[in-house]
Amino acid sequence: KTFEALNLHEDLMRGIYAVGFKKPSKIQERALPLLLSNPPRNLIGQSQSGTGKTAAFTLNMLSRVDPALLAPQAICLAPSRELARQIQEVVDKIGQFTDIKTFLAVPKSWSRGVRIDKHILIGTPGTMMDMITRGRVFDPKHIRVFVLDEADEMIALQGLGDQTARIKRLLPPTVQNVLFSATFPEEVQRFAEHFAPEANQLFL
Ligand code: AMP
Repeated sequence: KTFEALNLHEDLMRGIYAVGFKKPSKIQERALPLLLSNPPRNLIGQSQSGTGKTAAFTLNMLSRVDPALLAPQAICLAPSRELARQIQEVVDKIGQFTDIKTFLAVPKSWSRGVRIDKHILIGTPGTMMDMITRGRVFDPKHIRVFVLDEADEMIALQGLGDQTARIKRLLPPTVQNVLFSATFPEEVQRFAEHFAPEANQLFL
């Protein structure tokens, strides 16, 4: 299988070549057709780090954002600031030939009343929640994709699962929900089914 077969935008193909990917990893090969389907379907995916899952959900976010609309359209949450920063790096690299801009949503990265007009927000749940509710720095009505990375880690950390669920309630009901987790103990499975109802499931 090739990236060419996935019908990605040519600006994204240039990004893929620029980072040096020659062909999709196993998870990319299986997840991307599911992620990119229209109408969009939710996805619950099992994947360890090192498998290429970041590029998979990154290509989906970059494909679904309209660069001409200067408003947040995709949110990606991670269990730590460090992971969020790494995800932002991947999105910026693969998206370098597009006009899509990213924003790292971590404490102190935003100020109340200062509007955020970036397309993809990547961060931790508490900050994302504050930005929407207390800060009113963006309107969640344009969000189309909601990605949750390392869901098992999120749930293991006090309150992060709850905050994620609360953010979801503020987003349009049509949002495509995407969840990746390395493990699926019962609590994570239950959370995943609530986060991404009727999802395509990908277990490697
Ligand atoms: P991840 O599982 O998202 O943490 O990615 C693990 C590593 O695999 C990263 O260093 C990526 O740059 C690399 N990677 C992801 N997709 C590909 C690909 N299609 N071809 C080669 N390397 C890749």
